[in-house]
Amino acid sequence: MSLVKPLKKLVSCVILDLDGTLLNTDGIVSDVLKVALVNYGKQWDGRETHKIVGKTPVEAAAVVVEDYEIPLTKEEFLTQITPMFSERWSNIKALPGANRLINHLKSHGVLMALASNSPKSNIETKISYHQGWKESFFAIVGGDEVTAGKPNPEIFLEVAKRLGINPSNCLVIEDSLPGVTAGKAAEMEVVAVPSLPKQSHLFTSADEVINSLLDLHPEKWGLPAFQDWVAGILPIETWHIGGPVVRGFGRGSKVLGIPTANLSTTGYSDLLTEYPSGVYFGWAGLSNHGIYKMVMSIGWNPYFNNTEKTIEPWLLHDFSEDFYGEELHLVIVGYIRPEVANFSTLESLIAKIHEDRRVAENALELPLYSKYRDDPYLKSPLLQNNL
Ligand code: ADP
Ligand code: MG
Repeated sequence: MSLVKPLKKLVSCVILDLDGTLLNTDGIVSDVLKVALVNYGKQWDGRETHKIVGKTPVEAAAVVVEDYEIPLTKEEFLTQITPMFSERWSNIKALPGANRLINHLKSHGVLMALASNSPKSNIETKISYHQGWKESFFAIVGGDEVTAGKPNPEIFLEVAKRLGINPSNCLVIEDSLPGVTAGKAAEMEVVAVPSLPKQSHLFTSADEVINSLLDLHPEKWGLPAFQDWVAGILPIETWHIGGPVVRGFGRGSKVLGIPTANLSTTGYSDLLTEYPSGVYFGWAGLSNHGIYKMVMSIGWNPYFNNTEKTIEPWLLHDFSEDFYGEELHLVIVGYIRPEVANFSTLESLIAKIHEDRRVAENALELPLYSKYRDDPYLKSPLLQNNL
């Protein structure tokens, strides 16, 4: 069977946004604003994040000063919070798929550039903590090097000029609305990777909207394809997560007929924001039982439309009873697909989840993934119970 994907457009360079696209800056932003607003007796509301993503620092400061009635000018407020940000730069993590994308394009000699609304010196400091990034970019343009930041196209046009490439041969990758608007105004191809949940519908001007960098298919743009997908799944750097199983709402098991062990979200909500919503698989160690294959979703759950991001592991074994309160450790080793919001029927969603289960079951037989069954992290809850 040959799968020919339609080619969208041939491009010869990739222009990346930094905050929210390559770096998980959102967590840092809410951290800083939480602390900064306490001084004025105000409480930062995370739902406001969408008003500031993609803006220049001074515009973002203006939004906060106005919405929270801070008795300062936007410049004064910015001066106050700037050192709080700088302190945290060394801790901003690369988003999943960022290193993979940079290394891939670099190894194939694809021209790459950075275009960010942050001042150039801030960009350089932020990327200095990420090995190999600075050398990967042929050009880096900051908001202070142009007369107007995104959504104005000037930043992107400046990049094209420095690269000596026609704007229409550039592919922009952006998480924010101002960034997408700027890219289209520069007449470039634009892939949107929204950093905030449930925003995809706002990105209609983008040429494509994807769930995370893991879902980018460079071959659609005439660029070299990733070679790391094997049989429809993507191996990922393993990650560990665990805790006691808590009582859920019984919806997954009762409505879908698919029991998923609920982990409390309080302990690791930060960790979850770093991971793109989607379907993953790996191994599960359950304290009074043993080690099992596992398939899970991370996200808001398109069917139940949750307000909080959750993690829902389905242990691939027939348990005769609940195991609330038991310690559950997960080792996640691979990615199957993005979370899809538009299943036409409940039956089609259930069928898809069963297909995910088969994919996971088979994959976990491969040495690449089966070896993680021996990960000590899985055994630790069992040892506590002398199993
Ligand atoms: P929901 O289906 O919404 O998560 P419940 O919490 O009532 O609601 O149901 C899931 C519970 O079922 C888990 O917490 C766990 O104790 C139990 N369970 C039984 N079999 C499995 C399984 N194969 N995988 C995960 N959990 C299971
Ligand atoms: Mg559940």
